[in-house]
Amino acid sequence: MAEYSALSLLKNALSGNKDWKPAWRKPEPKPSYDVIIVGGGGHGLATAYYLAKEHGITNVAVLEKGWLGSGNIGRNTTIVRSNYLLPESIRFYDFSVRLWENLSHELNYNVMFSQRGILNLAHSPAQADEYIRRGNAMCHGGGDGVWLTPEEIARKVPGVDLSASARFPVVGGLLQPRAGTARHDAVAWGYARAADRLGVDIIENCEVTGFLREGDTIIGVTSMRGEIRARKVAIAVAGSTSRVLRLAGIERFPIESHVLQAFVSESIKPYLDCVVTFGGGHLYMSQSDKGGLVFGGDLDGYNSYAQRGNLPLVEEVMGEMVAMFPAVARLRLLRSWGGVMDMSMDGSPIITKGPLPGMYLNCGWCYGGFKATPASGFSFAWTIAKDEPHAINAPFTLSRFERGAVIDEKGVGPTPKLH
Ligand SMILES: Cc1cc2nc3c(=O)[nH]c(=O)nc-3n(C[C@H](O)[C@H](O)[C@H](O)COP(=O)(O)OP(=O)(O)OC[C@H]3O[C@@H](n4cnc5c(N)ncnc54)[C@H](O)[C@@H]3O)c2cc1C
Repeated sequence: MAEYSALSLLKNALSGNKDWKPAWRKPEPKPSYDVIIVGGGGHGLATAYYLAKEHGITNVAVLEKGWLGSGNIGRNTTIVRSNYLLPESIRFYDFSVRLWENLSHELNYNVMFSQRGILNLAHSPAQADEYIRRGNAMCHGGGDGVWLTPEEIARKVPGVDLSASARFPVVGGLLQPRAGTARHDAVAWGYARAADRLGVDIIENCEVTGFLREGDTIIGVTSMRGEIRARKVAIAVAGSTSRVLRLAGIERFPIESHVLQAFVSESIKPYLDCVVTFGGGHLYMSQSDKGGLVFGGDLDGYNSYAQRGNLPLVEEVMGEMVAMFPAVARLRLLRSWGGVMDMSMDGSPIITKGPLPGMYLNCGWCYGGFKATPASGFSFAWTIAKDEPHAINAPFTLSRFERGAVIDEKGVGPTPKLH
């Protein structure tokens, strides 16, 4: 039954909005759980939901340092896509897109998933070849990739500079029609509410400060709210991965933390009805339902745990935006913010049992983990419940670094080694 129906909106509007039921409880932590999830971002919350829903494991606590949505789940540019090159990535991210397609119904919460498509602009014949190759790989893997000519791009995205004098001439573009955007806070709130309703304890303002151990085995955590024991401890802390692993004595791990900024302009009339990326540098832009242009570019380029960025990158991103869409040069910038990215060394995620007994780890999302939220939660829950990976995350365990079987997504993944 819809909890936020038109009738309940009207009723609560008339009663001063004082009677809304909280979307999740504020429980005190119990002394022990079957599973503790460290990190109440999108991935931690989705994992808790699928543990309860798919595996019947409901004696679960999600421990969040701040408030839900304070991390990258509430800071991203909301792009959902599966336009990858390598079969492992296509399989994983396409599975995620399929979960997105039913997510609002699954959670009974409108996550505003809008399949408006993503268009990657190509600016040289070599880049066009590369994108067409990727589109073919996507189609072979069961996904959707369509090549657009400049004439078709002119009709679809009239704001793009397609003139002969353009600084970066456009020779075509790869469109993934099923890609799109979603409302990022709603994803956190939707998973939180659904997990809570299944019995999961979501405990905010509860930073994990250490791990309880018996020998090498992790048997719980120390936190701002005391010691909490668990049979299994799962970590999903994105940009804080190296800091949290250090609490368990793991000093060396193939993850670096970097700042990524995002921007939103003042609201304008409908201007852009798909996501567009610029291939001459690194820029991605869409228009939100409120009318603001939402966009971002590259990492700031130095290691940091700060959730804010610096000015040189702002200038670079604005320069790319104006080169691609000259008409936006006179728009005012409304807000900018930053998040801490967990950059893995091959640009692909890690969803794994270990590295210590009793521990499970989910990280390495680089700047593309929002779109992965449903598949990540689904496969991490599977890994925790069954002590083995699901077929879709089997290639993404830690053993790939030992075996040299890295998943180096040159097609469209981040390239941490260049930063
Ligand atoms: C500016 C920006 C733009 C992006 N754009 C996109 C995009 O368009 N598309 C896309 O797919 N991805 C994008 N991303 C990446 C995506 O947001 C992340 O990969 C993803 O959200 C990471 O997973 P998460 O949601 O679980 O992380 P988070 O929301 O960061 O969750 C981790 C949580 O762990 C908590 N935590 C940390 N340490 C502790 C501790 N000791 N104890 C308890 N809790 C702790 C943190 O407070 C945080 O809430 C973007 C990211 C940023 C910053």
